Amino acid sequence: MKTIFNHIIAGALMAGSFLSPSAHSDEAKSDSKPVVFIMLGPPGAGKGTQAAMLHEKLQIPHISTGELLRDHVRRETPLGKQAKLFMDKGHLVPDQLILDMLFERVTQADCVKGYILDGFPRTLPQAESLQARLKGQPQPIVLNLDLADAKIIERLTKRVVCESCGTPYHLVYSPPKSEGLCDKCSGKLIQRSDDTEAVISKRLKVYHDQTAPLIAYYTNLKILHTIDCDQSKEKIFSEVVARIPQPQN
Ligand SMILES: [Zn+2]
Repeated sequence: MKTIFNHIIAGALMAGSFLSPSAHSDEAKSDSKPVVFIMLGPPGAGKGTQAAMLHEKLQIPHISTGELLRDHVRRETPLGKQAKLFMDKGHLVPDQLILDMLFERVTQADCVKGYILDGFPRTLPQAESLQARLKGQPQPIVLNLDLADAKIIERLTKRVVCESCGTPYHLVYSPPKSEGLCDKCSGKLIQRSDDTEAVISKRLKVYHDQTAPLIAYYTNLKILHTIDCDQSKEKIFSEVVARIPQPQN
């Protein structure tokens, strides 16, 4: 409840913080050291799941830049309106707009203890802007959720979903009781069109091309933590938890 409440307060303050971003950032710098987590990982490695578990444990916001963008567009904020101009033309939203949205978001009160970034940075210039922004604060913890492409393809191509009620199944990890039929409503189980091997391979190639410079960048800064994701989500999470810095008193 507290988190939801904070979100409402944060939303109410948003117009003010947009005009004077210093008010909140000064507060954030004063007594607490925010812990910033950056989630890197290919589709299918369990990034969203781990981010959600981390959010539960630490009670810090899980910020997905995709959702942030959609939220600005929906609320028709000045930044959202600018972004929509690009989206309507089928263009990518420029880095600077995404950065403005993100940096506005992290000055809100609920980010004082830290936050989890999901879907950001995607490019080296974004990573460099973030580092510049975090100057004078503790280094972020970059979690690189690692899983071999073959394993990802095996995971994602064996996902099926009920055509009627949308319940997801996995033919190996969580198969339905009777083949091809939904346990809940007996609907037909189908594969989503973007879960085919060809589509997934293409997405993975894009991911590797985009992410390789980020991996090198964060490795150089010595803040990259690679976690083997060929294990249960609980075991992966215990490795994530081991990377949480302990308060130094
Ligand atoms: Zn169903």
